[in-house]
Amino acid sequence: MKKIFFITVITIVLYACNNSKTNVENSTQPLQDTLFNDFKARFVLNLWKNYPEWATSVGFHEYDSLLTISNEVTSKKNIDFSMVYLDSLKKFEQGLLSTNNQTDYEMIKNQLESNIWYAKEFKSNEWNPSDYNVGGIFSEVLNAGVDSINIRLTNIKLKLKSVPAYYQAAIANIKNPTKEHTILAVEQNKGAISIFAVDIPDAVKKSNLSKLEKEEINTNCKQAMAAINNYVNWLEKLDNKQPRNAHIGKKLYEKKFNFDIQSQYSADEIYMMAMQRKSQLHQSMMEIAIQLWPKYFNTEKMPSDTLVAIKKLIDKLSINHVHRDSFQTAIEQQLPVLENFIKQKNLLYIDPAKPLVVRKEPAYMQGVAGASISAPGPYDKFGNTYYNVGTLANYSAADAESFLKEYNDYILQILNIHEAIPGHYTQLVYSNNSPSIIKALFGNGAMVEGWAVYTERMMLENGYAGATPEMWLMYYKWHLRSVCNTILDYSIHVKDMTEKEAMHLLIDEAFQQQKEASGKYRRVSLTQVQLCSYFTGFTEIYNLREALKKKQGNQFDVKKFHETFLGFGSAPVKYISKAMLN
Ligand code: ZN
Repeated sequence: MKKIFFITVITIVLYACNNSKTNVENSTQPLQDTLFNDFKARFVLNLWKNYPEWATSVGFHEYDSLLTISNEVTSKKNIDFSMVYLDSLKKFEQGLLSTNNQTDYEMIKNQLESNIWYAKEFKSNEWNPSDYNVGGIFSEVLNAGVDSINIRLTNIKLKLKSVPAYYQAAIANIKNPTKEHTILAVEQNKGAISIFAVDIPDAVKKSNLSKLEKEEINTNCKQAMAAINNYVNWLEKLDNKQPRNAHIGKKLYEKKFNFDIQSQYSADEIYMMAMQRKSQLHQSMMEIAIQLWPKYFNTEKMPSDTLVAIKKLIDKLSINHVHRDSFQTAIEQQLPVLENFIKQKNLLYIDPAKPLVVRKEPAYMQGVAGASISAPGPYDKFGNTYYNVGTLANYSAADAESFLKEYNDYILQILNIHEAIPGHYTQLVYSNNSPSIIKALFGNGAMVEGWAVYTERMMLENGYAGATPEMWLMYYKWHLRSVCNTILDYSIHVKDMTEKEAMHLLIDEAFQQQKEASGKYRRVSLTQVQLCSYFTGFTEIYNLREALKKKQGNQFDVKKFHETFLGFGSAPVKYISKAMLN
């Protein structure tokens, strides 16, 4: 997602430079803003210098030949960088800045403080071996279409030289890794080998570099593979009798939640809200189950355990799904329906100049069925936004059936709302038009996911798909996933929930398939906090809308609310709320 924002970055940098020459004489507020815009431009350029891999990922290729070695020198350099810029921030009086810049100020501050905290307290480089993996970094340089293949390979040639040192540093840093991250690191680093065994040598063959240069790259690739294999062997042989617990505990969790989510609520407040929401959803689902039971089960007696009854009804409705060969076609056909509905109900403006293209998921994204959005690259202003649809080709009949039942006729529509219209795709179009380099770079995940989750409900509230009881029941099941993501994440990391309890939550209380639940359990063991972003963002956006409705009475206009909200870019919802409520 980071790549799409780069056009905005360049524009703003230039804009800021021009501004500084022309607006200096203006009144206090524009002067403060002018100076602050200059500051942001300098900050971002230095950010790239300090974080070359991040620069590559946003399409800034000046530092592609560098590979960051994780050692004390680097750590100190990064902490110093953050301290210096935190100091520079203090020179600005926040209250004198425009709303846009006030939010940017907060977001830069959060980013810098978070950098320091990650380096000094969280220290995943000591316990998470999957922090070390050169696969993605080289693949990004190799596939960046901006420079010629000769330039890219020359950068790769230089970058390859540091790979042995990179893994030596990894081995020196790792102290007491978790079992889960060790297994992941082995898997992922093994997966990275093909880039050096196949992808780069293939590109070398096709290039018109000199024979000598070609040989040098191939030799460096072999060295890189040896370093990766050595790391994998070292990890596999680690005799770690008391591995660190992958669940990070209350103290680290609460801090990480504050830095990553940037919510007006604390982690335990959101957890409590999610618990309450789960009960409400079960209540609403039970009411629908009572209403629909005779329609689908005639005179058969409804089970006395309501969760069992709801599950039975969900299973019955899930039989309605598309054929495995028409999964992509079904998605393609639904997008214009969604767009027309939004126009007809006047819910928000959708820019027709930025169409969404549905495509089969490219091979490099792996064969996991599902859906995702790829936005155009930074120098590809007129490029397409893609809706990637995973293929079911390699699924057994049973696995395909289980997948299609999960993404049945009801849920598939909600998935399209979430991923595409008016969810992620629509939000990204608005975000790209937002005039802020910082929001583009430090885009807030809870705002982005919260918006997608909010639109699911908003569409149903406005009568989408007839808003039938069946549709609402399936929506509640889908929504339970976001709610239980939060409950699961907090419970696992803070309250020592066991795997058995986790499975009960996901399968019995959130009606998930076994396969989906075990995948989620793995994810929660490998990540922290991110799973809270969906429900937290949703709650904040929904509450903001309701507060504005109350405040504005019959002046409230939902289209205006959506467009104004999205116009702030991918900023944390608490700042957008503050601006919109004032
Ligand atoms: Zn999403």
